[in-house]
Amino acid sequence: MTVASSPSTPIQRTRVVIVGAGPAGLTVANILRAASVDCVLLETESREFIEQRPRAGFIEEWAVRALERRGLADRLLQYAQAHGECEFRFAGERHRFRYGELSGQHHFVYPQQLLVTDLVRAYADDAGGDVCFGVRDVELHAIDTDRPSVSYTDPETGERRRVDCDVIAGCDGARGVTRACLPPEHATVARYDYGVGWLALLAEAPPSSDCVVFGIHPRGFAAHMARSPQVTRYYLECPPDDDPENWPHERVWSELRARLSADGARPLAEGRLIEKRVLDMHSYVVEPMAYGRLYLAGDAAHLAAPIAAKGMNLALHDALLLGEALVAYCGKGDGSGLSGYSAACLPRVWQCQEFSHWLSEVLHGASSGDLFRAGSGAARLRRILGSRAAAAAFAELYIGKDIDL
Ligand SMILES: Cc1cc2nc3c(=O)[nH]c(=O)nc-3n(C[C@H](O)[C@H](O)[C@H](O)COP(=O)(O)OP(=O)(O)OC[C@H]3O[C@@H](n4cnc5c(N)ncnc54)[C@H](O)[C@@H]3O)c2cc1C
Repeated sequence: MTVASSPSTPIQRTRVVIVGAGPAGLTVANILRAASVDCVLLETESREFIEQRPRAGFIEEWAVRALERRGLADRLLQYAQAHGECEFRFAGERHRFRYGELSGQHHFVYPQQLLVTDLVRAYADDAGGDVCFGVRDVELHAIDTDRPSVSYTDPETGERRRVDCDVIAGCDGARGVTRACLPPEHATVARYDYGVGWLALLAEAPPSSDCVVFGIHPRGFAAHMARSPQVTRYYLECPPDDDPENWPHERVWSELRARLSADGARPLAEGRLIEKRVLDMHSYVVEPMAYGRLYLAGDAAHLAAPIAAKGMNLALHDALLLGEALVAYCGKGDGSGLSGYSAACLPRVWQCQEFSHWLSEVLHGASSGDLFRAGSGAARLRRILGSRAAAAAFAELYIGKDIDL
């Protein structure tokens, strides 16, 4: 219901305002809607834009099953491919790693924009959820009181609007506004810079392998990851501040061929590059992930450089916990899930950060120019390829099974 407090500031009242319609915000929104908890979802971009924004592609099986239990994985299960193997290419040799056999679980290859499309449809079209796309100048107010609110500029009218609520879910990603609302004296930010960049590429070309390929090479790391039968993601290690314009088509493909070459490997199927951008490889963790009536989820609370494909999976983990905690609070007045929310999320967050850091040395050691890092990175790789116990431990971390230690 919208009521006007003054001619210029319409005020809406709801239980939960969710800021950001990425995987985290949309999952929270769907859980609330399914439990008939009143909520409003605010997103700066248009619906068309978020439904086409390519990013992640590897969803861990536990997350797929959690979405399935909530009726949110029908299309995913219909179209996604299950992967349980990856390949390390090193010194011209190929080493298959069968983590599916070791862990009993798989990745589902499903582009993030398709998951977002499914979640928007489930929330907005099927369940009639309240969502406003294209909002501007989002501001949070009174988060340390029991009457917080969120204001924004309406994209249609240019008017300021305000939504009063009980709780705010800050799901607005790494570049959002909610994280900055945590007072510095109540939250710490741990940040780590990997000191490398990754040129992230999407090629209009079919995958050239049936699994993820990690190319470990003195010229720099490279990776191959399927996205769909027509599109493949590639990464090339580059200087952190490199300009994508330094990477014309010919240079990209000759560098990928060099870094991913190995005996018996299929030649790369080349194609037009439809995305080319440099990722500054860094990570951060905000602790605690909440202050007052504001709860952060996903990249708003922690960024995991995409070394081990953990970011979206962590966002889903947070969102599932936060969604259920909000349902308990709004439905039964049970605040225990909310008060324990940050402590419930952070162990998995740190396990994933540590695993990404560990894997980074395997992937970047050879090209670091540091003989000690190169030697110890190679030792880590030999250990997971040579010891069943080490391989099993790696497999569980890679697939995200039971890692909330
Ligand atoms: C190239 C690349 C590849 C990746 N590959 C993988 C992978 O294979 N597996 C994996 O698990 N992760 C991967 N990730 C990470 C993954 O994409 C993110 O971790 C994931 O998108 C986080 O979801 P989120 O909902 O927290 O944030 P986001 O997806 O960033 O969503 C936040 C939303 O909030 C909106 N927003 C921002 N500011 C505001 C505001 N002020 N008000 C309202 N809305 C706002 C944004 O427009 C956005 O829609 C990859 C990332 C990149 C860049």
